[in-house]
Amino acid sequence: MESGWPESLIRDIPDFPTQGIMFKDITPLLDDGDALRWSADALADRLSSTPADRIVGVEARGFILGAAVAYRLGLGFVPFRKPGKLPYDTMSVDYQLEYGTASLEAHTDALSPGQRVLIVDDVLATGGTAAAAVELVKSGDAEVVGVGVLLELGFLGGRARLGNGYPVTSLFYCGGDE
Ligand code: AMP
Repeated sequence: MESGWPESLIRDIPDFPTQGIMFKDITPLLDDGDALRWSADALADRLSSTPADRIVGVEARGFILGAAVAYRLGLGFVPFRKPGKLPYDTMSVDYQLEYGTASLEAHTDALSPGQRVLIVDDVLATGGTAAAAVELVKSGDAEVVGVGVLLELGFLGGRARLGNGYPVTSLFYCGGDE
């Protein structure tokens, strides 16, 4: 395996979507079949030691990895979506992004009380999205047992924001000075 592969396939896009943000573009990694399979398998393997009932994927890139992880672990997949996309009754939460504000919605019957949930997304930055997903899981009286991401931007403190109760598994870690 080439050194740094497949993390080297995550591309830096400066000043996207706003000035000062270094956007981590995972599309080159998704474009490479071996890299996609390796990444989904590796994340699923790391999460497999945590007993869970459902994978929650956060729109949009969390759907890609979340669905692959759910498939691999044999678990159901629950989409947490941007406002107005889900057809049935919804519950929602508003939150701050690294670059703006946003809302997440879930179907009111998406999760059952007591279900153990793993939240999957592509990038953990400030942790605002993951924290919002945690709130939404709690609204369904379910329990978050972990958060899994492809890439953690450690210098933005997302893990600390989530606190110890929600263990974070990240396949790749960016401390900020590389
Ligand atoms: P945050 O809520 O700050 O942890 O941001 C995480 C969410 O926003 C994830 O759904 C990411 O897809 C996206 N995101 C935030 N910052 C970045 C970044 N620098 N590069 C790529 N995606 C990002």
